[in-house]
Amino acid sequence: MIIIGSGFGGQCAAINLLKRGIDDFIILERREFMGGTWMQNTYPGAAVDVQSPLYSIASEPYQWSQMFAERDELEEYTKHVIDKHGLRERTVTSANVEKIEWVDNAWAIETTKGEFRAQFVINATGPLSTPVIPPFPGREKFRGKQFHTNDWDHTYDHTGKTVAIVGSGASAAQIIPAIQPEVKQLHIFQRTPHWVMPRPDRKFTAWQRKLLGITAIYRAIRTAIYFGLETRIVGFKYSRTALNFVAGRKALKLLDRQIADPVLRAKLTPDYTIGCKRIILSNTLYPAIAAPNSTLHDKNDGIKEVTETGLITTSGEHIDLDLLVWSTGYDATDGVISYPVIGRDGAKLSETWSEYPHAYIGTAIPSFPNLFIVTGPNTGIGHTSAIFVIEAQMEYIMTAIDKVRKQHARTIEVREAAEKRYTEMVHHEMEGTVWKSGGCHSWYQSKSGHVIAMFPGFSFTFRKIAKSFKEDDHLIAR
Ligand SMILES: Cc1cc2nc3c(=O)[nH]c(=O)nc-3n(C[C@H](O)[C@H](O)[C@H](O)COP(=O)(O)OP(=O)(O)OC[C@H]3O[C@@H](n4cnc5c(N)ncnc54)[C@H](O)[C@@H]3O)c2cc1C
Repeated sequence: MIIIGSGFGGQCAAINLLKRGIDDFIILERREFMGGTWMQNTYPGAAVDVQSPLYSIASEPYQWSQMFAERDELEEYTKHVIDKHGLRERTVTSANVEKIEWVDNAWAIETTKGEFRAQFVINATGPLSTPVIPPFPGREKFRGKQFHTNDWDHTYDHTGKTVAIVGSGASAAQIIPAIQPEVKQLHIFQRTPHWVMPRPDRKFTAWQRKLLGITAIYRAIRTAIYFGLETRIVGFKYSRTALNFVAGRKALKLLDRQIADPVLRAKLTPDYTIGCKRIILSNTLYPAIAAPNSTLHDKNDGIKEVTETGLITTSGEHIDLDLLVWSTGYDATDGVISYPVIGRDGAKLSETWSEYPHAYIGTAIPSFPNLFIVTGPNTGIGHTSAIFVIEAQMEYIMTAIDKVRKQHARTIEVREAAEKRYTEMVHHEMEGTVWKSGGCHSWYQSKSGHVIAMFPGFSFTFRKIAKSFKEDDHLIAR
């Protein structure tokens, strides 16, 4: 058995296999280190935006130091989980998977560290792990320093420098307040403004951390946070009025309170429904944008081209720069899997997904036996912890593997009709959601216009579907 990727998805898969007494698996990881998102993203200000007692593996509680853990603590947590379950010994690092192919009733896996064969493959390569920089003209000419937020270069000291950050999404919203006080001048290039809401963070006191060490209390806090966040689906899916009344008003109040300049406030006011793009939680972003050393360039003043010494804006201004930070996101929609996948009878996943990615329970695809995609199409849940969804997928994946083993079979494959039915249900349910009709264009949408990142409903509904395994929807064969 092979798990591709060693982030929380890969870790959850490994822990669940070990719980079942299955230990003949290997984790393949393309980086030279394990751990995924929080080991890779080291940019200043990096922190989770879902409360940590919920953004953690259910069976691995932790005595967090604050409600929204910062990256360093998430790194500690990641290492704690990896070491507790002995996952290092089972991982081959620097093994970039370049192709997988179904040959003679097994998967042949080509990597930069040689070939592997496995009966089952669990792909946990992450929804946001392949960074993207759009082709800005002249980018290669720039003689200053440039990097993507995903590959922050800490050997470069940005103190006292003139810096441009391109993009204004979740990572930029954390970087801007972290570096603004340190840099000489900060140019922020925003294509569309995001909705920003207050971040209800708090440090836990010593006795509160002790309480977090009591499993029953940890679970109770986790449950309370979970259901608190779950109510957001009512707005995202069922009631635009409730969404605007509860969330929209709160966000506009924050904007009014923190941005005094009406011109800047207008630039920062979104023209689409709140929730259509991921909502940013920050108490410090607006003050940093309004600081005297910051300049906000909106869509009317974007980047025309990059030059050797800086960039030229569409309004004709030349800005000299020391550092260009690309906060331009990830290949999250059409590129769910970045390597070629060849299934039964030569089926190509790129062709199956040529219009848009789709999968049964976001996990299984007809013609691709014994392959499971963690955080696959339509598994994203913008309002709660991605780890909750990963764990829901594990219910389905582990039952499928159990079925094969118990029936002394060799393969399991979802039936085409079942996958089609599931995908139709997902896109039918998506119709009224804010992600589909909230008036924005986001990374939740595929090039075809389908919303393929989100599950259109409560996360407990997704879990219920994943848990109630339907044997008739599958072909189990020897
Ligand atoms: C900056 C940032 C902030 C985020 N904040 C939140 C948040 O606040 N709340 C939330 O719920 N989610 C958040 N997410 C989403 C995050 O992706 C999930 O929470 C979670 O970490 C996903 O775990 P994963 O294991 O699926 O993916 P990852 O953690 O991305 O792990 C995937 C692993 O697979 C490896 N890999 C990829 N391709 C290959 C290959 N071809 N061969 C071998 N290995 C490969 C990668 O190197 C990586 O180690 C955030 C993501 C990012 C990038």
